[in-house]
Amino acid sequence: MLDMTCHRCGSNNIHVVEDAMDWDEVTCRECGEFLTTYGAAMALMQPVPLADACIKTQQLARCMGISLAG
Ligand SMILES: [Zn+2]
Repeated sequence: MLDMTCHRCGSNNIHVVEDAMDWDEVTCRECGEFLTTYGAAMALMQPVPLADACIKTQQLARCMGISLAG
């Protein structure tokens, strides 16, 4: 359903709940890693410049160990 790869273990076995909403979690079935939210995943598949920039900023912040969500 989602064409994604786990950034932790490299698995394509991605889990998302049925009838997922934007805020539902997308996780890896193999290692349980939280990958993104459904809304963010959809935005990645159909890139919108502003949303894309927001996601990249979140990912960058996460890499740097900063939590934007608090
Ligand atoms: Zn994984």
